[in-house]
Amino acid sequence: MRIAIYPGTFDPITNGHLDIATRASKLFDKLVIGVYETPNKPVLFSPEERVELIRKTIADLPNVEVESFGGLTVDFAKRAKAIAMVRGLRMSADFEREFDMAMMTKKLYPKLEFVCLMSRVEYQFLSSSLLKEAASLGGDIHDLVPANVVEALKKKFKGKT
Ligand code: ADP
Repeated sequence: MRIAIYPGTFDPITNGHLDIATRASKLFDKLVIGVYETPNKPVLFSPEERVELIRKTIADLPNVEVESFGGLTVDFAKRAKAIAMVRGLRMSADFEREFDMAMMTKKLYPKLEFVCLMSRVEYQFLSSSLLKEAASLGGDIHDLVPANVVEALKKKFKGKT
């Protein structure tokens, strides 16, 4: 069984993340999306909320699961019995950070392969932080996130726009 993890903050999941998860699910027998419980950046949604939003979004992907985790990502990978860690790469924003992360991950757990999938052109500019900014100002975000996420963002920003 070839298992991969796809770790991230997912605050909240976007169509860019979903595209990476869908494509990765075809490369591995099982993909476990791992939600950081305490990322080193401020978050809008709790870990439970982020997991729940993802769970609804991946309902039609039979070999994809989601759970939250704390501590080192490599320890999460070991627990999941993963052979690879998947990350998404946007053209301008991600390369250096992902490269550093790949080097550190290899140092901590040499057996784990680091697999980066290129973001599709239409999601190159899409980040959870920009999305939250647009949503907080009342922007139309319906083609950037799954429908349940549109509703969750509306609820969070209700009365603030
Ligand atoms: P992190 O805090 O680890 O960066 P994110 O939720 O921001 O968590 O992102 C998780 C992963 O998804 C990262 O590899 C990131 O580069 C990737 N990603 C984020 N947005 C997109 C997108 N629009 N298209 C493709 N990959 C993306």
